[in-house]
Amino acid sequence: MNKRDGKTVVADATEVTSAGIPAALFQHTVNQADIAISITDTQGNILYVNPAFTRVTGYGAEEAIGRNESMLSDKITPPALYQSLWQKITSGESWSGRLINRRRDSSRYLAEVNISPVVNAAGEVHNYLGMHRDVTAMHRLECQVKNQKTLLESVIDAAPVVIALLDVDDRVVLDNHEYKKLQADLDMAEPAPMLMSAIRADLEVEAVAGRRSSGYEFIDLEVRIDPPGGKPPRWFSCSGSRVREDDGEADAFFAGGGRDYLLLVAMEITRLRTQQERVRFADLQAAMAEEDRASALRESLSAATFRLEGPVNMMASVVGMLARRSGETDPMVLALSDAIGVGQQALTELRAMIPAETREPDGSANVNELLRDALDLATGRLLAAGVRVTWKPQAMLPALHGQPNKLRSLFKALVDNAIEAMSGRGWRERELSVITRARLGSVEVVIEDSGPGIPSALQLKVFEPFYSTKRRHLGTGLAAAQQVAADHGGTIEIDPVKAAGCRLRVVLPVKRRP
Ligand code: FAD
Repeated sequence: MNKRDGKTVVADATEVTSAGIPAALFQHTVNQADIAISITDTQGNILYVNPAFTRVTGYGAEEAIGRNESMLSDKITPPALYQSLWQKITSGESWSGRLINRRRDSSRYLAEVNISPVVNAAGEVHNYLGMHRDVTAMHRLECQVKNQKTLLESVIDAAPVVIALLDVDDRVVLDNHEYKKLQADLDMAEPAPMLMSAIRADLEVEAVAGRRSSGYEFIDLEVRIDPPGGKPPRWFSCSGSRVREDDGEADAFFAGGGRDYLLLVAMEITRLRTQQERVRFADLQAAMAEEDRASALRESLSAATFRLEGPVNMMASVVGMLARRSGETDPMVLALSDAIGVGQQALTELRAMIPAETREPDGSANVNELLRDALDLATGRLLAAGVRVTWKPQAMLPALHGQPNKLRSLFKALVDNAIEAMSGRGWRERELSVITRARLGSVEVVIEDSGPGIPSALQLKVFEPFYSTKRRHLGTGLAAAQQVAADHGGTIEIDPVKAAGCRLRVVLPVKRRP
C-alpha cells in the first residue's frame, strides 16, 4: 500500500513498494497496527479488517468480511453526516470525523474515523481504506475538562469577590463578574494594574520594615480606592497566589517550561472599614481638638516670648551702655538691671510653659485619606461659610512613609486658610478644589480656593513664622505646614501665575530621602 497524491494505492503482495519495502512486510505492518483498519469496495462492503479492528469492534475478520461498514452504524449519528462523508469520499477526497459506532455486543463507542479513497494506477477509486480508533475515554476526559472549566468559571463568576488572573505584565487574562462591576464603578479599563501597583508599594514598605519577606504571594493586604466623582472611598482586602501554567507546546514536552500567573482576589471590606472609620474619625476629632488647643497655646506662648525677647534684649544693651558711662553702681543701672532680670525670669517661665511637641512615630500614610480627614474635619466650617467643595482624588495613590498626624495637620492648615480667605464679608466666590495625583516617585496635592489670593510680593513672606496677612492672627500655620512638608522631603509652593484666588501645590516624595 502506497500513498500517491494523497490517495492510497494498493500493491500486489509479491511487489516491492516504491519505498523499496516488500509488500508482504507492508501487509504485516498493517496487520499489527494498533488502529482499526478496514478496506472496502466502493459500496462500503468490507474486504479486509486487521486484528485491531476486531479488538475495537468485536467483529472477527470472518464475520466482518462481506458485510457493509454500516453494521457499525448506531443510527444516533445524524444521517447528514454520512451523506457528507460519502460526498467527500466519492469525489476522491479523504474524510475525517467522529461517528457513534456500535460493537458486536451492541455497546456504543465514539470512533474517530478517517476514510481515504484507494485509487488504482489509472487514478480511479476502486476501494476505500478506513481507519478508526475508540476515543470514548478521551472524549470523556475532554468533557470532564470542559465541564470543570464551565463549573469553575461559573463559581468564579458567582463569587462575591473580585477575581482576576494576571500575567507577569499585570495584563488580565481572566476575570469575573465582580471585577467587571468594579471596572464600571471606577470608570476605568483595567483596575487590576492599579491595584497591583498599590499592593507592590505596600509590600515594599512592609519588606523595608522587616514585617514581610518580599515575594510574589501576599494575603489580606488592604487597599483603598477613591472612586471618581467624590464618591466615598472603598476598601479591599487583597490576596495573591501564584498559578503556574505548563507549556502545552511540543517543544516543551521534554524541556518543560510554562508561564506564571497571579491570581488576585480582592474582597470588599468597605462596610467594616466604614464602621471602623466612624470610630477612628470620632477619636481623630477629639485628638485634633486637643492638638489644636495645645498648638494654639504653643503659638500664643511662642509669639509672646518672641515679642518679649525684643524689648528685654534692647533694655539689656541700653543698660550695658549706661553702665559703661556712669558705672555699674548707678541707681538707674541697678534698677534697670533688676527689671531686666525679672523680664528674663518671666521669659524663662513662659518658655517652660510651652507644651512640648510629641514625636510621632513614622508609619504608612495615604494622602487621599488624610485630605479626606482634613475636609471632613472642616465640614462644619465649610457649610457655615457656604463653600462649594470639589474633591478630585486620584483613585489610588502610593502610600507615603511619614508621620500621618503631622501630614494631616498640614492639609488641615491649608484647608482652614482657604476657608478663612473666602470667608471675608461680601466675598461671593466660595469654591474650594482639592486634587491629588501620583507623580513619578511623589504625590502631588493641589488646593485651590477662589478667595482674594496672595499678592505676589507676599508669596514668600507668608511662609515666615509669625507673619500673617490678617489682623489678630499669629501667622504660624503656613510656616508650620512648610516645616512638615520639608520634614517629609517635600515642598509647598504658591502658584505664581494664578490670576484669581490662591493655588497651593504640595509635593511629597513617596520615599523620604534620608
Ligand atoms: P446508509 O444507507 O448506508 O448510508 C447513509 C447515507 O450515505 C445514504 O443516504 C447515502 O447518501 C450515503 N451513501 C451510502 N452508501 C453510499 C455509496 N456507496 N455511495 C454514495 N453515497 C452513499 N459508518 C459508521 O457508522 N461507522 C464506521 O466506522 C464506518 N466506517 C466506514 C469505513 C469505510 C471505508 C467506508 C467506505 C464507510 C464507512 N462507514 C462507517 C459508512 C457506512 O458505510 C454507512 O454509510 C454508515 O454507517 C451509515 O449507514 P446507514 O445504514 O445508516 O445508511
